[in-house]
Amino acid sequence: MVEILRDTVVKVNLDEIAFNMQQIGKLVGPDVAIMPVIKANGYGHGAVKIAPTLLENGAVYLAVATLTEALELKDADESWPVFILGHTPDRLLHHVVERDITQTIFSFEQAKILNDLALKAGKKAKIHIKLDTGFHRLGKMPTAEYADEVCKINELPGIEIEGIFTHLALAGDEENEEQFKAFMDFIAKVESMGCSFRYKHLADSIACVDFPEYRLNMIRPGALIYGMVGFHKGQLEVHQAMTFVTAVSQIHRIPAGEGVSYDYLWKAKRDSLIATLPFGYADGYPRNMRDKGYVIINGVKAPLIGVLCMDQCIADVTDVPGVHEGSEAVIYGNGKDGSMTIQEASILAETNKNDIIARITARPPRVYN
Ligand SMILES: *Cc1c(COP(=O)(O)O)cnc(C)c1O
Repeated sequence: MVEILRDTVVKVNLDEIAFNMQQIGKLVGPDVAIMPVIKANGYGHGAVKIAPTLLENGAVYLAVATLTEALELKDADESWPVFILGHTPDRLLHHVVERDITQTIFSFEQAKILNDLALKAGKKAKIHIKLDTGFHRLGKMPTAEYADEVCKINELPGIEIEGIFTHLALAGDEENEEQFKAFMDFIAKVESMGCSFRYKHLADSIACVDFPEYRLNMIRPGALIYGMVGFHKGQLEVHQAMTFVTAVSQIHRIPAGEGVSYDYLWKAKRDSLIATLPFGYADGYPRNMRDKGYVIINGVKAPLIGVLCMDQCIADVTDVPGVHEGSEAVIYGNGKDGSMTIQEASILAETNKNDIIARITARPPRVYN
């Protein structure tokens, strides 16, 4: 057993991640390949630790955003199939070839660099072509020039174009449909010019539930894997895999009128019992939770009071029965115990669910069931 060196820990339930993967698999059926997205350290869950569960439950690829994330996975297990969704600078493309990573590509120049490296190594570099259908983030627009460029890439002997993809802006049904049509039209065009693609994909978590026709033969769910529900039209039962807990480090009894934390922005209206908790914004807890955040101790809501600090914060536990130093406090939970869910946290912190979980830093240890 590894010794857990802090009371503030992220608990990850691998059974729930397996369940969510199975649910997605049942939803999309055997003809749709699943490429779970585990960028940003698996949205805070620990990419290396959740990867085996995903692969055992049907993942054909592990998708990350950056080369550093890809190398972390490859260092853990060289045999894992790793896909980089983002751009890798020219000078670093040799890593992609050396470690057999599948790279997103949108220019002949980069494809040529990969090609030359691959030929030197006696390999083929696997790539997926990125098409910009409106998001204007990565990829080129579906022009005749880009179609020619893709076909030129296809002729490089050291390159295997394994797939083509785009990303939805999810701006509305009409906008989605325009993007989808632009994607399919471009594929038809380059296919008529002699290219072929084993995988075609554009659906993230929301799209793969809400728009079955957009699944094509591969999907890229991130949020869903962790049990985050963002879809509106479709239905899928998934379970939040993460809970975030800590324990009271100190209890203070303070008289009415006392101020607490920086600038004394919170003042006790009554004689109060307050508890110091060893987590803060450097653990990834949103600093703008001031006056909104709370933890659950002994089944009771304890509001966070005053300015949230980098490593600690303070809760009003006057109404919490039996609280003592060492009492467990649930920061994010599944809601059944009254705890704040990731969903609720995202609303209170005025952000989205992915931000809440992905921003949890490396500092709190991860504990797996
Ligand atoms: C992050 C990402 C995803 C996954 O998004 P979710 O909303 O978490 O499902 C899919 N595709 C690309 C290109 C991404 O960057």
